[in-house]
Amino acid sequence: MKTMDKILITGGRGLVGTQFVGKNYTHLSSKDCDLRKTEDTENVFKEKWDAIIHCAAKVGGLGSNMRFKGEFFYDNIMINTNVIESARKFNVKKLIVFLSTCVFPDNVEYPLTESKIHLGPPHTSNNAYAYAKRMADIQVRAYKEQYGLQYTCVIPTNIYGPNDNFNIENGHVIPSLIHKCYLSKLNNKPFYVWGSGTPLREFIHSEDIAKLTELILESGYDDDEPIILSTSEEISIKEVVETIVESFEFKGQVVWMSDKPDGQYRKPSDNTKLKKLFPNYKFKPFKEGIKETVQWFVENYEKARK
Ligand code: NDP
Repeated sequence: MKTMDKILITGGRGLVGTQFVGKNYTHLSSKDCDLRKTEDTENVFKEKWDAIIHCAAKVGGLGSNMRFKGEFFYDNIMINTNVIESARKFNVKKLIVFLSTCVFPDNVEYPLTESKIHLGPPHTSNNAYAYAKRMADIQVRAYKEQYGLQYTCVIPTNIYGPNDNFNIENGHVIPSLIHKCYLSKLNNKPFYVWGSGTPLREFIHSEDIAKLTELILESGYDDDEPIILSTSEEISIKEVVETIVESFEFKGQVVWMSDKPDGQYRKPSDNTKLKKLFPNYKFKPFKEGIKETVQWFVENYEKARK
């Protein structure tokens, strides 16, 4: 990147953070700094950063979002408030803040677009996380208005890739299915999958997220509204499972537990804004991304978060 020599990545050890590669980047871990604490955050932010890519968050699957609402709210609201305010205080020129499609209202007209974030309450299952994330959007807009800062939020759909959290209970759908299939193959057992496989979701590889974020930083993007980072390609859970099975060369039985809940049928998003900004951008094909992620998980089983 030409003019930006010093870029701080918060959540630098995570799924998204590890995809920013190069000498300009400094990867921050919660071990270096607890971003819930204002003084600790300020100590890191006063080091004159050209830009900050803010990936740190308390993240989890549906189960942990429902069980630990207090923690999800407190951690995320504190982390975001400290990061955005410290960036302003120490004159950071550019900041990109990660939201999530969970911020959108439960009762929304699909496809999701950038202008629909605040049109109604989010789903009750993860409303603590969603409201905390929504407030980051409000804070960024307020700071743009009052201080004229070039700060922006991005809204990725479901992300997958290496360095994800592969925990079967608390992880997101792809890493948790990868881990399950790995164990089924290892133990010669059937691969049990919740639901019917019919729901559709949009998935994006973490490498695409990093590349698109870099493009946004370079482009000088400065709209009030955030940008949805999505392929807008819907993939069924059945196709996800088939691709994982193929990548593992798993020959055992796949058992669909259709008495278990399916969740919402589809949550399509509209990536028109992203495509307008970067019309030639080519996303990593889904099958290739899954194959690489499975390979990474197998090779890094011991150290993988699980
Ligand atoms: P990860 O959980 O992989 O990474 C988040 C990182 O945040 C962790 O590595 C952790 O650091 C760090 N972190 C958590 N709490 C603190 C804290 N108190 N102080 C400092 N650092 C902390 O998440 P992802 O990479 O998946 O997500 C990146 C961003 O994208 C998040 O904002 C998330 O909400 C958003 N997002 C993710 C999606 C997904 O499907 N994964 C979908 C949509 C949005 P450490 O490991 O060092 O403890």
